[in-house]
Amino acid sequence: MAASRASDFDRKLKYMQAFQSLGPPTYAGNSDFVEAEDWLRRVTKCMDAIDVPVELRVTLAAFMLTGEADRWKRREETSDSEASGSGGKVTKSKSSSRSNRYRPFHCYKCGKAGHIQRNCPGNRSPSSDYNGGY
Ligand SMILES: [Zn+2]
Repeated sequence: MAASRASDFDRKLKYMQAFQSLGPPTYAGNSDFVEAEDWLRRVTKCMDAIDVPVELRVTLAAFMLTGEADRWKRREETSDSEASGSGGKVTKSKSSSRSNRYRPFHCYKCGKAGHIQRNCPGNRSPSSDYNGGY
């Protein structure tokens, strides 16, 4: 039973993809009967085009009816972008990270240990407002 159910799902997916490629109209579920009938007619037309079996028509129609199709489509888009994005992210490992660990603070500006260049006392920016005040 389980095996036939899996292949059934696969079959559904195939029809769903074919169905989606046709761009079937969605139905928000309005109480308008004429609109519903028109929607059903257009959906049936799409199903006729790809020869959907009768037992699957309700499933596909239900997808469009509840808006699940839109969610399904969006999920496919996000997973696709996710797959392409993960391939490009490669963290570069620095070979110098090993020596940096126990190295004491050493200023590149004045050459003294105990502080880094950014915190150097002699590192005064000319645009600072505190320069001439005191
Ligand atoms: Zn310094």
